[in-house]
Amino acid sequence: LKIAVPKERTAGENRVALVPREAERLIRSGMRVWVESGAGSGADYADGAYREAGAEVVSEIGELYREAEVILKVRRPEPEEMEHMRKGAVLIALLDPMRHLSHVEELGERGLTSFSMDMVPRITRSQEMDALSSQATVAGYKAVLMAANRLNRLMPMMVTAAGSIIPAQVLILGAGVAGLQAIATARRLGAVVKGFDIRVAAKEQVESLGAEFIDEHLQEDAEGEGGYAKELAENQQEKNRRVIHKHIRESDIVITTALIPGRPAPLLVTEEMVADMKPGSVLVDLAAEAGGNCVLTQSGETVTTEGGVTLIGHTNLPSLVPVHASDMYARNIVKLLGLMVKDNRLDPDFEDEILRSTCITRNGEVVHSRIGELLN
Ligand code: NAD
Repeated sequence: LKIAVPKERTAGENRVALVPREAERLIRSGMRVWVESGAGSGADYADGAYREAGAEVVSEIGELYREAEVILKVRRPEPEEMEHMRKGAVLIALLDPMRHLSHVEELGERGLTSFSMDMVPRITRSQEMDALSSQATVAGYKAVLMAANRLNRLMPMMVTAAGSIIPAQVLILGAGVAGLQAIATARRLGAVVKGFDIRVAAKEQVESLGAEFIDEHLQEDAEGEGGYAKELAENQQEKNRRVIHKHIRESDIVITTALIPGRPAPLLVTEEMVADMKPGSVLVDLAAEAGGNCVLTQSGETVTTEGGVTLIGHTNLPSLVPVHASDMYARNIVKLLGLMVKDNRLDPDFEDEILRSTCITRNGEVVHSRIGELLN
């Protein structure tokens, strides 16, 4: 089986879809791996490390894709990249298909069979393939470090000869995978941490990390399919915003992570709330790409308000920790690939729940039912 790994072309993307260790694993099992020169350089994996793993390093994209049966990527391919891909090739990447429908159509028109790493269902068997979780873990960690770096004060309590320092107050909105990692990281830095979520199950998880859970207005029925949150009615959202408003005034750092699959991110932080935040405080909006949890977030930008609040809308925090983000993503993608390969040949069982959920186009046709509905 012939596998190609290109250099990511999306601006600011430092991750690579296959790290040398996973390349070696594939090669040992009988596959051939071609890697574009420089593919791993953003994550400090040199061409030489891929060669040592047994991969072939090529510098011309036409050569990379000429015989490739499977293409492993992090981000959606650019049109000029797709031109080189063979009809019928299998592409596996974070395609974000619900937000990029015209891209899905293009994959179809080019005759590609595509699988999206962000559509892996949340079932026990697929945990090793769950790239959304692995990348959210990295994002939650990095968000706290970015905020701490911007903050005008120390995070931990300190008792020194020059006086006592009280710990910073951190508020985490949305306690899923990213939120829980943010809580753990902020606790390690010595902050006093509060967590907020609408799912009942989040309470125990937040408390087990030593944070306080804000449980006013918890929603008994807020959990939907796959453990994800459901979209709330506007009056309920308004009630939640009143609760958040009370706590946000005291916070030095706010990390927002709330997402609803396939929907714009819920609005949790209004202009009035930002105006009430302390000067010098920092908000990191991990939902920036999905529209933001804070109304003033500017996607991809860091801005400071007149009141001195810094709002960070970085849309790709995992790319800022590229080594471990790539290591985990590569493990996820190799596990998904493993489901499609039998006797060193591609033989996907499209009835398998994981493959059915992740397969977006097949030999040129859009086969994912939900994406198909959105397209019609
Ligand atoms: P997510 O990224 O979709 O959302 C992040 C968090 O935002 C979630 O906890 C969600 O409840 C919360 N949220 C949504 N709307 C909100 C609102 N209006 N106000 C406050 N919070 C809001 O979710 P996620 O992090 O991917 O995971 C969600 C759940 O799924 C977690 O419990 C996680 O442990 C579980 N999970 C299960 C598996 C598995 O079983 N294989 C894998 C990954 C995650």
